[in-house]
Amino acid sequence: MRMLRNVMRNLFSRPSTRLEPQRRAPIPGVRGTVAFETADCVYCGACGLRCPAKAIEVDRPARTISFDLFKCVGCACCVEACKKGCVQMREAYAHPSYQKPDILFQGAPVLKREEK
Ligand code: SF4
Ligand code: SF4
Repeated sequence: MRMLRNVMRNLFSRPSTRLEPQRRAPIPGVRGTVAFETADCVYCGACGLRCPAKAIEVDRPARTISFDLFKCVGCACCVEACKKGCVQMREAYAHPSYQKPDILFQGAPVLKREEK
C-alpha cells in the first residue's frame, strides 16, 4: 500500500532532476569549477604540485597545463598555490560528459635567444 502511494505521488509530482541542457543556477558560495587564465602563467608547476587529486599536470618545457576535470574535487588548493593569479574558481557547474575531458592550455613557445 505504501509503495502504491509512493508510485502515485511520483507520477503526479514534478521530476526531481532537470533534463539537459537545463541548468540550475549555482548556489551562492559554491566553489564551482577551476578556470585557468594562462596569459600571466610562468609554468612553475605549483598548482599541479599542490593538487591532492593530481588533476593538473604542468609541462614546463612544452609550456602546457593539462587539467583533468573528472579528477578535480574542487578544493581550490591550486587557486591558493598560484602566486600569479592564473587559477580561479568559477561559479559554475561542470558539464556532464561521456568522455574524459582533458583540458589543455598551451602557452606561447619559449623563444631561443637568437629568435627574439
Ligand atoms: S597556473 Fe599559476 S601555479 Fe600553475 S603553473 Fe601557471 S603560474 Fe604556476
Ligand atoms: S580544485 Fe583542488 S582538486 Fe581541483 S584542480 Fe585545484 S587543487 Fe586539484
